[in-house]
Formats: sequence, structure tokens, C-alpha cells
Amino acid sequence: MKMSNMYFHTLREDPTEAEIASHKLLLRAGMIRKLVSGVYGFMPMGYRVLKKIEQIVREEMDAKGAQEILMSAIQPAELWQESGRWYAYGPEMFRLKDRHERDFCLGPTHEEIFTDIIRTEVNSHRQLPLNLYQIQTKYRDEKRPRFGLLRSREFIMKDAYSFDKDWEGLDKSYKEMYDAYSRIFTRCGLEFRAVEADTGAMGGSDSHEFTALSEVGEGVIAYCEKCDFAATSERAQCVDDPLNQNEEELPLKEVLTPDKKTIEAVSSYLSINPNRTIKTLLFKTGNEMAAAVLRGDRELNETKLVNALAIPEHLLEFASEEEVREITGSDTGFAGPVGLKNIKIIVDSELVHMRNMAAGANKTDYHLQNVNYGRDYEGTLVTDIKLIDEGYPCPKCSEPVKLAQGIEVGQVFKLGTKYSESMGAFYRDENMEEKVMVMGCYGIGVTRTMAAIIEQHHDDNGIMWPIAAAPYHVIITVINTKNEKQMDAAVKIYKSLQQAGAEVLMDDRDERAGVKFKDADLIGIPLRITVGKKAADGKVEFKLRREADLYEMDIEEAIGKAIDIIKKEQ
Ligand code: ATP
Ligand code: MG
Repeated sequence: MKMSNMYFHTLREDPTEAEIASHKLLLRAGMIRKLVSGVYGFMPMGYRVLKKIEQIVREEMDAKGAQEILMSAIQPAELWQESGRWYAYGPEMFRLKDRHERDFCLGPTHEEIFTDIIRTEVNSHRQLPLNLYQIQTKYRDEKRPRFGLLRSREFIMKDAYSFDKDWEGLDKSYKEMYDAYSRIFTRCGLEFRAVEADTGAMGGSDSHEFTALSEVGEGVIAYCEKCDFAATSERAQCVDDPLNQNEEELPLKEVLTPDKKTIEAVSSYLSINPNRTIKTLLFKTGNEMAAAVLRGDRELNETKLVNALAIPEHLLEFASEEEVREITGSDTGFAGPVGLKNIKIIVDSELVHMRNMAAGANKTDYHLQNVNYGRDYEGTLVTDIKLIDEGYPCPKCSEPVKLAQGIEVGQVFKLGTKYSESMGAFYRDENMEEKVMVMGCYGIGVTRTMAAIIEQHHDDNGIMWPIAAAPYHVIITVINTKNEKQMDAAVKIYKSLQQAGAEVLMDDRDERAGVKFKDADLIGIPLRITVGKKAADGKVEFKLRREADLYEMDIEEAIGKAIDIIKKEQ
């Protein structure tokens, strides 16, 4: 492609709304354009990158025998009502009505749609297993669309759904997809980890998230350097502290704690370690209220709480001051588990063994001391609701765990029979007996992956695409387009490279060399061949975007070197 003919528009300044590198660089390099918050269009160069990533995904999915189809974005409400998710999905779903007042949504995901196809068209064991996928636009009205392509409201996802005869079959399909994902993200040049994940709104049993390591990622993973434990922070199990389980139970007593509303204030006022206090958090969960009770120095893991309460995530809200007063009869800051009535109480498992703790008295300006589980209060449910932190013992081997931030680029789930049962996806086995299909689902954020690649591959001057995702492999920068010798040499290189299968951009614009170099760095073309004065002697300059060094060489050598690198890294 000759840049003089190309639709190409860069920005000189960083757009003010962009906070992170991928967002800034995609906009500045003119690869994407924003329409409204969280909704972007792809310009020629950005679209080429997108297609490259899609192609990698496609090749690896096809290699595992998955078959590509394309379903609609518009989905009828009835299918979601059947699975029970029309109400569970919440405000993230874009909902609409047609002229006959019939309800629809713009698909945030496609479990219902794929299950519907299979239940109507597949009925024999001979037709299984099956794995169907699509690369398609998804819609989610995110609470906080931000970071450009990382969290948008319209984005492209590859979603696949496997249908097996039994759980053994699902294990196999799941493993195939896990392997395909590892290959896909490796080919995209990402440094990533596959970690155990929560199954959340999807339902089902096992799940892994593929996390591209990055400081701007919204995901936190916990991992152990001594063993193979690695999980998202939402999922990571926490080990209970055996702190004071053998202490003798002391009599409960009420103490005046005027205006001491936080764990820090109460523990320093009572001269105790925060790990001897109990924190009681009150929530509204739709029409009901709930309390989460855990040790004062722990953080609540909201995902674990939502799972314990068996409610959709969007229903969990902090109780207002009035609601706190209604439940506890006191101001905020004095809630405690003793005497709480008419609400669900989820108690962290660790507290069951903790003796003689301090907790709010449900009375303004008072706390209780020597609070003991069983004697003084009980939970509706006792389970682990702690959020893991750096240094907590590994749940597998007890070594201190590490935390890292990352971008969730993909997730695989063993759905089991959740959708096949609720929506009736059955088949007949060898003995003509009716059996329920066992499903898996597998998603990759294709547009998010594009942004994740930039987060891991950029410098102050711009993007540094790996060859496999680059919009073009080589850019030929012509210093003086009015000089015939330079143009002749550039065209020769351009044609030879193209003949050898390289994707080439020729910067033949009537611009200063400095502008051309800047643009080449910004758009991040991996190889640059600069054609300047020495073209008359058959010499050009060769440079890798990811390295600082420039090499002067013969035209033929530069062509050969470029082809070698492209073949090796493509
Ligand atoms: P998140 O926790 O980041 O909201 P999710 O777990 O809800 O994502 P999935 O339902 O697992 O997402 O969707 C599959 C993949 O789609 C994700 O792994 C992610 O790469 C991508 N994805 C999800 N939401 C968005 C979004 N708002 N913008 C871009 N990509 C997204
Ligand atoms: Mg996910």
C-alpha cells in the first residue's frame, strides 16, 4: 500500500479521555475512532490488525475441529427466559422492543442461541461431540466503559460452545480449547497466565481465565512460586487462620466506644490487634438484606459473597444509612453479628474458631467484647468470603502467595448441563435412551486482545506490533520522493517484498523525513527500510521497530533479511 493513497489520519496530541497506552496509541495512530463512550469503529490500519488476530483465532479453532458459524446480534427474550437469565443478567444487557412490543436483546453472549440450534437439530449420539464457534459483535452496557478497547460496550468476541455426550467428553473438549487458547495468545505475542477462575453468571463448574500480564489490567491473579497454584483473586480460596481457637471463652461484655466507627479506630481505642475484631458489612440484595461477617483485618470478596447468597452480581448493593439503622437500630459503624435478626448472615469460615473477638453492639457508640461464634451468634451460612492478599498462605502448599495484575483476554468454562437441562438439549444414546448433553463455552475478547498486545508492546514513541499482528510487516520510508533514484529503489524493494509474500507499506508522502519516522514508530510497523541518498549506491538503512540500532546494507540484503524475519515470526 502506498501511504500517499491511504486513508490515514494521526493525532498529534494524546486524546484527553485516554488514560492508558493502548487507548491513547490506538486513537493517536488513527487505528480506531470513537463514536460514543465505549463504542469504536476500526480504520484501515486498525481493521487489518483486527483481521490478523481473528485469523489466528480461526486457524487454531479450526485445527481443533471446531466449526465456524455466524449468529445474529439480535436475540429474542424468550430464549433467555427459558434459561432463567433474562432477569439474572441485569442492567448490563441492552434490551429493546420491536414495533409489536416483543422483547429482544443485543447479545452479550450466546449460550442460549447455540443451545437452541443444537436442541432442534441434533438428537443422536452419532452427531456428537460438536464444537461451534463464531467471531461476532457483542453488546454489554458496562457500568464503566473505559480504557478504549479493553472495556467497551460493543466489542468483538470469539465465542465457542461444545456439546458432548458425557462429562468425559467435556473434559476432552475443554482440554482442546485450553490448548488452542494457549497457542492463540502465544502467537499473538502475549505474556499470559492461565489461572483458575470463578464461573460467575455463566454457571457451571470448572473455569480458567487467560490473563495477559499488565499493570493496567483490572484483573488480579494470585499465584504461588513454589507450586502450580494460580487463580483469579475472586476465585482464590483463602486459608483460615488458626489464631486463637484454643482460648477459653470469656463472658460477653459491652464497652463504650464513642464515635469509633472503623476497625482501626476501634482496635486502637480498645488496644487490640485488628485481627481480634469482627467486621459486619450490610447489604441490600434486591428485596432482602444480608450481612457479611468477617475478621476485621480481612477484605470481603464480593464474588464469593454473591455466590454464597446465590444472587446475580448486580443485585448486591451496600445498605444505605437508613437501612443500616433499620436493621441494627444504630448508626453506621456499630453493626455486629450478635442479635441480628431477619436477614441472611454469611459468616466467614475463619470466625467459627476465633475466640473472644470485638464486634459492633448494634447500639450507637458501643461495641461488644469476647464475642464467640456458636455461643453469641450464628450464620445462615458459613463459608470462605475472604479476598486473598499478597503473602497469604497458598491454599495448596502454604507458601506465601504473590499477586499480579492482568487483562482477562479469554475464559473457558465447563458449563455442564445448566443450559442443556433448562432448555432441553437431549440426545438418544446407543440404546435409544434419552440423555442430556454436557456443554462447555469458551470466549476470547478479540478487540480486547488487540489492546492487550499494545499494552505489552509499546514504548514512548508508539506501538511495537509483533509481526503476527502487525497491520503491515515492513514500511519503506522514502526520504525524498522527488528524487528519482530513491523512488526507483523504493519501488523495487516494494515489489520484491510483495512478491515474496510480505505486506508492505511505502511512505511516499510528500512529508519531511522526521514526520515519516515519527508516524512509522507510532503505527508500530515491525520492520523499516529507509531509502535515502545512498540509494544511488544501492544502499539502504534497515531497522527493527523493537530495537534502537540502524544497519546500513545492500538493497538485496535488506530484502532478504526482512523476508527471513517475517517467515520466522509470522
Ligand atoms: P470482565 O470480567 O472483564 O467483565 P467477563 O468475564 O464478563 O469480562 P466473559 O463473559 O468471560 O467476560 O467474555 C469473554 C471474553 O470477552 C472476556 O474474556 C474478555 O476478553 C471479553 N470481554 C468481556 N467484556 C468485554 C468488554 N466490555 N469489552 C471488551 N472485551 C470484553
Ligand atoms: Mg470472563
